[in-house]
Amino acid sequence: MSSENRSHDGKTGLDELVPSRYAQQVGDIEVLVISDGVLPIGAETIAYNAAPADLAAWLDDMFLPPDVLDWPLNVVVVRSGDQTVLIDAGLGSEFPDFQQTGRLAMRLAAAGIDTASVTDVVLTHLHMDHIGGLLGDGLGLRPDLRVHVAAAEAEFWESPDFSHTSMPTGVPDALRSAATRFLEEYRGRLQPFETEHEVAPGVVASRTGGHTPGHSVVRLASGGDRLTFAGDAVFQVAFDHPDWFNGFEHDPEEAARVRVRLLQELAANREALVATHLPFPSICHVATAGNAFRCVPAVWDF
Ligand SMILES: [Zn+2]
Repeated sequence: MSSENRSHDGKTGLDELVPSRYAQQVGDIEVLVISDGVLPIGAETIAYNAAPADLAAWLDDMFLPPDVLDWPLNVVVVRSGDQTVLIDAGLGSEFPDFQQTGRLAMRLAAAGIDTASVTDVVLTHLHMDHIGGLLGDGLGLRPDLRVHVAAAEAEFWESPDFSHTSMPTGVPDALRSAATRFLEEYRGRLQPFETEHEVAPGVVASRTGGHTPGHSVVRLASGGDRLTFAGDAVFQVAFDHPDWFNGFEHDPEEAARVRVRLLQELAANREALVATHLPFPSICHVATAGNAFRCVPAVWDF
């Protein structure tokens, strides 16, 4: 089925048939997962160190196409105390090659979230599918917005190293220019943190490194409930093959160690997981399965 051609998503705007938002409560913290759309990604990029036959078998087992996948792109809005925090911002609408992204602004409006009420943004890292929505004025955010990002991440993009990545031609240049532009536009609003920073009550950004040197996850904890937004530390394929390298990882070996540690921790403490590129709404729990893991989807309760 061509992704441009689905009859059921013909409706766009506030009354789209699939609203693509999902609400969850974590203690007193309100969580809303919103899809910015889907991105095409070449299958080889999700596991470039895997034997091609092993990757082909995995894709077939998962009912995924063999060549180009629709990669989900989840963003989270969190309300805690008197703050409204956007965690990542999607790809936005400034990249016309990507027809099925840039839905965040419309879906925030449909959810009744006034973007002028957003007090803080937390960025897991500065790849364009996480910061693109902030470029230009697509979201209408307030001028005194605080933007939290690991200091190591902002520093990395001054002179980024792509030597350990495996990306399609042209992508490193696109990532470099998006990050440069972001830093120019937002430098005055950046609130860099070293390893951990409590952005709002129970909302803690925590640097993991790996995917990028300043890659961070966001951990939510309130009233005994816990949920972690893992950004790009965990992908769909990671449950079965946590040691497969994603082409976007700037330090793939460290990224795999970060991923395994995080999945082991979440399997042990039973907290919920949300990640950028897991199938929407992506809220799941992590179980162990031999040397690998299982993603156990949360039960829809609305
Ligand atoms: Zn990403």
